[in-house]
Formats: sequence, C-alpha cells, structure tokens
Amino acid sequence: MKAVVFEKFQTFPSLTDIEKPTPGPGEVLLKVAGSGACHSDVALYKEFAEGDPGASAPPFVLGHEISGWIEEVGPSVDGFTKGDAYLVYGPIGCGHCKACSRGQDTYCENQASMPYLASGIGKNGGMAEYVVVPARNLVPLGDADPIEAAPLSDAGLTPYHAIKLSLPNLAGGGKYALVIGLGGLGLVAVQILKALTGATIIATDMKEDAMKAAEELGAVTVPGGADQVERIREIAGGRGADAVFDFVGATPTISTAHASVAVQGRITIVGIAGGTLEGWNFFTNPYEATITNTYWGTIEDLHEVAAMYRAGQIKPQIEKYTLDNALEAYEKLEAGKINGRAVIVP
Ligand code: NAD
Ligand code: ZN
Repeated sequence: MKAVVFEKFQTFPSLTDIEKPTPGPGEVLLKVAGSGACHSDVALYKEFAEGDPGASAPPFVLGHEISGWIEEVGPSVDGFTKGDAYLVYGPIGCGHCKACSRGQDTYCENQASMPYLASGIGKNGGMAEYVVVPARNLVPLGDADPIEAAPLSDAGLTPYHAIKLSLPNLAGGGKYALVIGLGGLGLVAVQILKALTGATIIATDMKEDAMKAAEELGAVTVPGGADQVERIREIAGGRGADAVFDFVGATPTISTAHASVAVQGRITIVGIAGGTLEGWNFFTNPYEATITNTYWGTIEDLHEVAAMYRAGQIKPQIEKYTLDNALEAYEKLEAGKINGRAVIVP
C-alpha cells in the first residue's frame, strides 16, 4: 500500500510502497478515511535531530490525526463492526500508570520506556491506505462525516484540552479570550471558545485569509504591528485578555501573549516554534497571571470533541488531498499556504 514515510531526520518525507499491516492482540486495522497534516509533522521531519526533546526516530508513516473505518480486528478484540467509523486517539502510553488510567496517555509516567509516543509519532500513522491502532484508542463517530472529522484528533483535541483548563478564567460576563495563530488548531479553537464560553474572542494571524476565516466564525481580529497589544487591550476593556492561547509559540507571539494578558489571566502556549518568554519580572507580570503549556489532550476530551462535532458545534475547515498529492500538502504547509487543515484522503 502507499504511505507517506518520514525516513530520515531533517529530510522531507517520501511517498513509498509498504506492506499492509495486520492487527495484533488488542489492535484493529482501520481503512483510513482521512489523515490531517499537522504542523508538528514539519517539526518532526525538518527541525528535530536525534536526541532532541520531542524527537521520534524514523522511519515511520506520518499522520497522527486519523479517522477510519473498521476493516479487521486483532485476536481477543471484539465489540466492533466492520465499516463503522472512528476517530483515533493518537497518544499511546503504557496503559496502566495513573495518567494512562485516567485516559491521559500524553503524560504517561512510563513514557521513557515506551518504544513510541503515538500513532504517527514513532509508530506508523494514518498517511496510508490502512493503519493499525490500539482498540482502546478508538472514539466512535456514528454517522458523522469521518473525513472532515480527522483533524479533530489533534487540531480539535489540543485546543479543547487547553480551553477546558482555562474555563475558570473565562466564566462570567465580560470576559476576553485571545487566540494567536489561526491555522489548523487556531480556527477550531475559535469555534470551541464560541461554543463553550460567552467570552469575546480576539484573534490574530499574519495571514489576511486566516483572520477573515476567524471573523466568519465570530472573532474580532487584530493584525500584527507596533500597536497590536494596545489594540488588543483596548478591545478587552483596557484590562487585557483573561485567557490567551498561543498556537505559534515563537518569541514574538509569546511576547504578545504576555503583554496582552489581564491580571489573574492565564496564558497557554500550545505552539512549539521554540520561542522563549523574555523580560519577565515581578513588575512586568500582571499580578497572578500564569503561563503554562499543554500537550494534546485526554481520550475523554476526544469523546467530548467528537460529541461537539456531531452536534454541529465545531467543523474543521479542510482542504482535501489524495495520497498521491500528500507531499504537496506538506510543501504548502511549510510555506504557510494551507487554509485551515490539509486532510489526506487515500
Ligand atoms: P498551522 O501551520 O496550521 O497554523 C499556524 C498558523 O500560525 C498559521 O495560520 C500562520 O500564519 C500563523 N502564524 C505563524 N507565525 C505567526 C506569527 N509570528 N504571528 C501570528 N501568526 C503566525 O499549524 P497548526 O497545525 O495549527 O499548529 C500550530 C502549532 O501548534 C505548531 O507549532 C504545532 O507544532 C503545534 N502543535 C502543538 C500541539 C500540542 O500538543 N502542544 C499539538 C498540535 C500542534
Ligand atoms: Zn502510562
């Protein structure tokens, strides 16, 4: 079968023929419906070197945002029907530590001794005709469109987890959320904020099209530039944003995030562009403002994200590519030329 394989660190992936996999005990074989191209894939194949934090050793098939139909189940797996559609929870922990027991494989206490992080990160993922995944990682989609749903596995789940942890900051009237970076994750974040909070959503991106898309979803946008923070603060009643989500994570965006946060606000850095927070001191930090990071989410969160999708509250904005054109999707992603999310449909 055809697959997009990350073969070597700091090397663009290739479209290769590999063997169709067979599900082992506890696993299922999915016929892939869709697989989203996440910006983290670019970090995996282009930026990381062996031994870097976050690096996963190649070779493996890319694609950690996966949806598909049950094709075959492995030994000792039952309760699934061929042809039913599922989303895949990507992270794979040990399955028995405290974190894994609450469905949070991302923070598995035994990760260091695990051979891989997730489907599509160290282990073969969804950029192929078929993929084998653990049966315990499946989230049902019912009769909702599985192709459009694929990005929810990460571009939906990651902002959902970050936003859920910020809900106390956004509870009550007159609250403001700031979303920085309106790509795959950011555009779903705007919709989740809209559905879960009454906050005014302020959004920013370098791309005009991305800001237009966010406006259509109900956000107020502010372009970059010297007066950006002043304008954000002005919209946010002079106080600043109660919750800030940075889906870029570069030094300039972290600086914007910090300069825009309100007293007792919360900043979540989700983007992994490698930036740092400069100039923090007792007097530059708004009192009790916190800064944190989040990594992906829990499988329980993914069930909730799937429910929101099935209820029509969130809808990933996608561009479809075939497997034959998958490499073109990555070229465009690197060049900032994808609107929303590219989904590879084998
Ligand atoms: P994307 O390429 O789809 O979108 C990124 C957006 O940010 C684009 O619209 C781009 O124009 C905008 N942008 C880039 N630099 C900017 C700047 N300086 N100021 C304003 N806007 C800027 O990427 P994505 O797939 O949505 O991923 C976003 C980030 O989140 C990436 O760094 C990715 O690796 C990371 N990520 C983190 C997690 C996690 O668990 N923490 C999960 C998935 C992705
Ligand atoms: Zn574990």
